[in-house]
Amino acid sequence: MKSYKIVLLSGDGIGPEISEVSIKILKKLSQKYAFEIDIKEEYFGGIAYEKHKDPAPKVTLEQCKSSDAVLLACVGDVKYDSLPRELRPESGLLKLRSALNLFANIRPVKIRKSLLDSSSLKKEIIENVDLIVVRELIGGIYFGKPRGQITNTELKKAFNTMVYDSSEIERITEVAVKIANQRSKKICSVDKANVLEVSQLWRDTVLDVTSKYKDINLSNLYVDNAAMQLVKEPSQFDVILTNNLFGDILSDLAAMITGSIGMLPSASLNNTGPGVFEPVHGSAPDIAGKNIANPIAMALSTSMMLKIGLNEKEAADDIETAIDNVLSKGYRTLDLKNENCQVLSCSEIGEKIIQEI
Ligand code: NAD
Repeated sequence: MKSYKIVLLSGDGIGPEISEVSIKILKKLSQKYAFEIDIKEEYFGGIAYEKHKDPAPKVTLEQCKSSDAVLLACVGDVKYDSLPRELRPESGLLKLRSALNLFANIRPVKIRKSLLDSSSLKKEIIENVDLIVVRELIGGIYFGKPRGQITNTELKKAFNTMVYDSSEIERITEVAVKIANQRSKKICSVDKANVLEVSQLWRDTVLDVTSKYKDINLSNLYVDNAAMQLVKEPSQFDVILTNNLFGDILSDLAAMITGSIGMLPSASLNNTGPGVFEPVHGSAPDIAGKNIANPIAMALSTSMMLKIGLNEKEAADDIETAIDNVLSKGYRTLDLKNENCQVLSCSEIGEKIIQEI
């Protein structure tokens, strides 16, 4: 029997609540599809700081490196915001991405038919949206050096560096090409080449790489226009390729098209080792511990893990179908509440999904 080692990082806030649902889903699927899942839970984020004074302890990173895939819920809480930056939960995320060399972040944005009315955009604008944001994840301004604050001058100053070399741009472009080739072969690369030298290199390199692939239809947009187009006509996009900072912002914007940030999964990948599969949202401290969080983004991340990380496509599709069935029966968590729905708790909607599998 096939056997997979999964490291689960439930993290902080709503993390443990939404993880509970995914653990149950995985257990049910492992029985149905006859594979073994060995789930190792490790400390990560604020909870890891409490236990080990490190948001990404060495033992956690070692377990992740030796796993088949990592399932991560979310980290963070306002109570850690006064810690030195390197001890904050969010720094743990950067450390994990770096340790596993996760240079490619994939965020699918797909409208689920039964949620057409949940978006803040009009139904006719969003009904055909099916796009993927491919974001470079371990370079650019979040990692660039020098960075810091200068406080010994009359005026305080702070600075960061947005830097890419061509090899970093080439490898993320290859990922976008691979994904585009399985879809409509359209890539829109987003940059700010009219102002930033680093974006000019981005644009030139993306063109160099994609010109090797005759079928790929490449377009370029400046990031400000891309933000506008995502709200005006999101269905024009198929694969959006962009850097770390722009991808962070645009993928949250794209997330809201679907109705709730509680619906969106993501995968962070490299070319060889285990990937990290996680919801797009944060730890939602405002609703943590109330059993009202939406566990669907985490369940869809579990589906991405099965499909991309473990090659268990049927089991992955089963989760998607189960979620669609539950939503089409009118069950919703509070974030998706509408007039005709039945609002369920996090664990209750989890049970409904499991019953559909
Ligand atoms: P957030 O995504 O946690 O929450 C934003 C809003 O969306 C909140 O109102 C929250 O209640 C709601 N929300 C989020 N997920 C939901 C879900 N599954 N179901 C229902 N509602 C949901 O973003 P934030 O408030 O800016 O950040 C809170 C903490 O999370 C911060 O410490 C931040 O640094 C951290 N964070 C972590 C990650 C991550 O772990 N990858 C990502 C973003 C933010």
